[in-house]
Amino acid sequence: MATVQELQERLRRPLAAELAGGCQNRVVAGGVEKLLASPLAGPFPKVREALAGYGTLDPAARAEALTAALCLLSADPRATPAARTPRAAARTAPPPAKDGERLPLDAEVTRLDSGPGGARKLSTLGLHTVRDVLHAYPHRHEDRRALPDLSEVEEGQKVTVEGRVVSKHRRAPRPGMQILEVVLETPSGGRVKATWFNQPWVEKQLREGARLVLTGRVKKFGRSVQLGVEHLETVDGAQDSLSTGRIVGVYDSKEGISQEFLRKAAFRALQAAPLDDYLPAHWRRQYGVTDLSDALWGIHFPADEAQLSRASHRLRFDEYLFLELRMLLQGEDAVLQGKRFEARGDDIHTFEAALPFRFTNAQRRVLLEITDDMRSDRQMARLVQGDVGSGKTAVAACALYLAVRDAYQGALMAPTEILARQHYANLCGYLGGLDVRVGLLIGAMTPKAKMEMQTRIAEGDVDVVVGTQALIQENVQWSNLGLAVVDEEHRFGVGQRRKLLASRPDVLVMSATPIPRSLALTAYGDLELSIIDELPPGRTPIETKLIQDTHRQQAYGFVMKQIREGRQAFVVTALIEENENLELLAATQLAGDLRVILPEARIDLLHGKMSAAEKDEVMERFRRHEFDVLVSTTVIEVGVDVPNATVMVIENAERFGLAQLHQLRGRVGRGSAQSYCVLIAGEHSKKTRQRLKIIEGSTDGFVIAEADLKLRGPGELRGTRQSGIPDLRLADLANDTAIIEQARELAKHILAHDPRLEHPRLQYLRAELQNRSQSVAYREVI
Ligand code: ADP
Ligand code: MG
Repeated sequence: MATVQELQERLRRPLAAELAGGCQNRVVAGGVEKLLASPLAGPFPKVREALAGYGTLDPAARAEALTAALCLLSADPRATPAARTPRAAARTAPPPAKDGERLPLDAEVTRLDSGPGGARKLSTLGLHTVRDVLHAYPHRHEDRRALPDLSEVEEGQKVTVEGRVVSKHRRAPRPGMQILEVVLETPSGGRVKATWFNQPWVEKQLREGARLVLTGRVKKFGRSVQLGVEHLETVDGAQDSLSTGRIVGVYDSKEGISQEFLRKAAFRALQAAPLDDYLPAHWRRQYGVTDLSDALWGIHFPADEAQLSRASHRLRFDEYLFLELRMLLQGEDAVLQGKRFEARGDDIHTFEAALPFRFTNAQRRVLLEITDDMRSDRQMARLVQGDVGSGKTAVAACALYLAVRDAYQGALMAPTEILARQHYANLCGYLGGLDVRVGLLIGAMTPKAKMEMQTRIAEGDVDVVVGTQALIQENVQWSNLGLAVVDEEHRFGVGQRRKLLASRPDVLVMSATPIPRSLALTAYGDLELSIIDELPPGRTPIETKLIQDTHRQQAYGFVMKQIREGRQAFVVTALIEENENLELLAATQLAGDLRVILPEARIDLLHGKMSAAEKDEVMERFRRHEFDVLVSTTVIEVGVDVPNATVMVIENAERFGLAQLHQLRGRVGRGSAQSYCVLIAGEHSKKTRQRLKIIEGSTDGFVIAEADLKLRGPGELRGTRQSGIPDLRLADLANDTAIIEQARELAKHILAHDPRLEHPRLQYLRAELQNRSQSVAYREVI
């Protein structure tokens, strides 16, 4: 027999769906009143009362009534003044909570009814099943319930406004620069001027009368308000309820895939999928987490902040729980057979003697940890974490040398071709004089050259091979792979790693992402951790300066001075959310501006829309000093060495995460000259300044990460995405210590009582664990 709580839940679900669906009385077959008349609503007279006459109410009144009803239903069941549950109700199936069919979680998105081309769009974003759609959470939420009174917003504040296009106007104040201005009338009758720079395609979406939701930063000119638009959505009447008048989720997307479309897809998935909870109710109560349906509806379509925060709490709890479960389960067979190397002290000396420098103490310590692993039968699975330039690659080169001395082959995989080439050059430097044959295998090579390299690899005619995915994509047969070094591992898909690692080599992962140790243990729990926490001596620390954008001219004056001294500069433009085209245009525009400000300098552009070969070509020319200023979107983030570059200018620095700023800054200071980083902040907020001050005040990645953790407020859903931990989507390692503890406790408890998750009550939990493990599991891979 269903408990009151279960009945409550069955009633709550369609009502929540109706609210999320914009109160059009279409979600429940036959209308809400039909549902109220069913035995299901029998035990809840107050709910029936709250929703009486629902069909006759206007949408606002409906929303109010639903909210009231949902409040009643989410109250503690023991407090519900309901009579005993009638038997009939227990046997009555809940009414279908949607107009479409019910779909299993693993149903393909083609069955989601997401409109023409919908399934293809979803696949483009990597969403292939209903489950994928449900768990593709918004990366942030915008409060569009009560839009701000524009007379009260402050200069520089980020706001969302909604309104109709009254007029539009395009002008070109100078060649290469187009400004599109649109006057918008808000529902309260106010007027806002919205502006776009160099984005011609936007104009099409802006016919007069169109309804728009715009997010951007405010500029005030006397009493008139102007908005520099960062995010645009058009809303068509029929679906607007998902996109306006509520707290709205903003999803990761790509050009041509609208937010509205994604919301609709999420909505349909929520309606169609069974949201049965895999976490039994008594544990939900014990750990104070809401149920799965409330959480999934709440993360996509929160009724209010409280639901959003409940949702986020529950989903984070789950992420840690499954991570902990997986790690604990894997712990059992952690002793995997790997390669066994001699790793002789003599060979280490030989390697070091050939270096133009001596290892730092930190490098030495890490090398000892690595060689211990290598000498054991156990398969090495070690993460070497260290700041940019701390000497990870040098240490990895030594490990590769030791592998080769034991007649094994070694591989070094890099995320991009530029980096593969750079590593190749470095390894040739380290190993060339030691009688080690180093090879390169990347996609850009001619088919003939690739074939030759593959043959050499297969015949054991090359010792160490550096490459990109090509190392594993192109059917490479290793003769005797003993050690695989993976640079910035998170950029590789798991399937790819599996191919490379099929022969069970020892594995060394290098990462420059500074995650504090305690957190790294959770995040990379199945890798042993080595930290290089010391920079080689003799480096001149990079000088960092934070300035307001009103002082840009000065910053570029300084850049010009450096250029006159024969130096080069990077200029990086702000990240523009969800849109590569915009990013490209921002960079193009900036390059144009700089040509005006710095007429003497040779300026070129690098952006994410270029092919790998084009990027390589630009980088190569920059390295050869064929031009002075490289204007770039964030594609240079990964470590390309240009020793002559001494200045890094970061525009709109406030839009970058601290970890990212730190990485970007690491692009300069690769040579011996004093180097500089100029952060140009476009916004005045105090918190932002505080954050950027951290970067200004420290060049130590770990210090920065710690300070960042302390500063970040709760509820910021971003963060880990940047640190590249693929199965933690919402997790906010900084603030989740308590949740992590609880999740670990529960995971231990579960496994202590049922080590194989065999109890029928845990079948959903087990299935969910399997689903999640498919995405990332080192043990499975290695
Ligand atoms: P990472 O891989 O951590 O970014 P690298 O191994 O590429 O760092 O080292 C960065 C630079 O510092 C390289 O030019 C390298 O030759 C040099 N280097 C590495 N270790 C030392 C050391 N102990 N002393 C001096 N220079 C070093
Ligand atoms: Mg070993």
